[in-house]
Amino acid sequence: MTLNLQTNDLGKVIEADRAHVWHHLSQHKVYETVDPRVFIEGKGMRLWDAKGNEYLDAVSGGVWTVNVGYGRESIANAVRDQLVKLNYYAGAAGTVPGALFAEKLIEKMPGMTRVYYSNSGSEANEKVYKMVRQIAHRRHGGNKWKILFRERDYHGTTIGTLATSGQPQRAAQYGPYPDGFVMVPHCLEYRKQWDVENYGERAADAIEEVILREGPATVGCLVLEPVTAGGGVIVPPEGYWKRVQEICKKYDILLHIDEVVCGLGRTGKWFGYQHFDIQPDFVTMAKGVASGYAAISCTVTTERVFEMFKDDASDPMSYFRDISTFGGCTAGPVAALENMRIIEEEGLLENCIRMGDYCLSRLEELKGKHKVVGDVRGKGLFLGAELVADRETKEPLEEKLVQAVVADCLKNGVIIGATNRSLNGLNNTLCLSPALIATKADIDRIVDAIDSALTTVLG
Ligand code: PMP
Repeated sequence: MTLNLQTNDLGKVIEADRAHVWHHLSQHKVYETVDPRVFIEGKGMRLWDAKGNEYLDAVSGGVWTVNVGYGRESIANAVRDQLVKLNYYAGAAGTVPGALFAEKLIEKMPGMTRVYYSNSGSEANEKVYKMVRQIAHRRHGGNKWKILFRERDYHGTTIGTLATSGQPQRAAQYGPYPDGFVMVPHCLEYRKQWDVENYGERAADAIEEVILREGPATVGCLVLEPVTAGGGVIVPPEGYWKRVQEICKKYDILLHIDEVVCGLGRTGKWFGYQHFDIQPDFVTMAKGVASGYAAISCTVTTERVFEMFKDDASDPMSYFRDISTFGGCTAGPVAALENMRIIEEEGLLENCIRMGDYCLSRLEELKGKHKVVGDVRGKGLFLGAELVADRETKEPLEEKLVQAVVADCLKNGVIIGATNRSLNGLNNTLCLSPALIATKADIDRIVDAIDSALTTVLG
């Protein structure tokens, strides 16, 4: 079947999709009775599917990606102009957009100096893991090779990054995993693990306990999400980050912040870590870097780390022996430059904070109204509402009811998300991440849809 993408062929598009596309994160049995949803157009925060339905997208492309909204002609034009000039050259050489975006990005990241390009969040994180391992070989006589990660955090889908999955159901059935990846406890105060006053400090101290147990001489790096995304939208409590930074300094452990979700404005600052007065050694980013207009990810590091890879030019093993073929595509950095210009010129960081505060206050109202809403939390336009069967015991609401709330919103034309079958028994948090252009009316429509869905599903 050959398709020409005219409107009257959309039935055939759905057929082709059903026959040949293996969808991400999907149980395909459902498509035996339900048509796959095929989106055909987007503008701002609105989307249209092949059946003509309109949606308000409260999750920026499903997974916190389209930060500046759909249908940005200026990004498309910048990419087009660049592609006809030069679409690609392998990253051993430079390109104009690669150089200019790196310079612009570094302006927003005091203390960082170097950008390594690749294509996905997983890949950007793998680069860090490889750099840490190489530093261990070259600087520490093979020691300091372990990488610590946190319960509930997620860092990607490759075998290496799944080895740092704090979400057990994501990693199950894909092992065995490589050695040297060690989990530390999560820091979600709503689900307390310690009954103490300074919860943030206590949760960070738990990292030190793991370091001492493993042996500080074996630990090279700690990777953390600044605000945990798919693991339940978790903003670490007061005092956490200060203590984390102290611990990393004390044991000479490199701090890697995974900004794949938070990067480029999601929390109201360029980067999530910038809320917390910390200085990372590595920052990785992907989704919002070009808002999904092109594939690009970056591994950003400091001159100190960079220098470790150029100390002995005569030794062929001394440099970072890595390449990402499509890290040399120019579409990514050119789209990323325009994406950044839009965020700056349209004041989207400021809008993100204003609308985030408004959305959080509206979610608080829902908490007052529906006893199933146990906790609401987040930063900027990155928000979650944890649903519980019982507020006293905090027993999580059954996943199928959480999914029924999501489905009811969808029926009413609003796309929201939820922690997705990744945390044993804790897939009970509704997730919101509208584009940074969201208006008060958009937020009202989103929260009203959740309000109505909670009433419909749970009474
Ligand atoms: N890190 C975080 C925090 C993520 O949420 C994700 C994707 N959801 C990744 C890494 C992996 O990114 P990608 O899917 O682009 O490989």
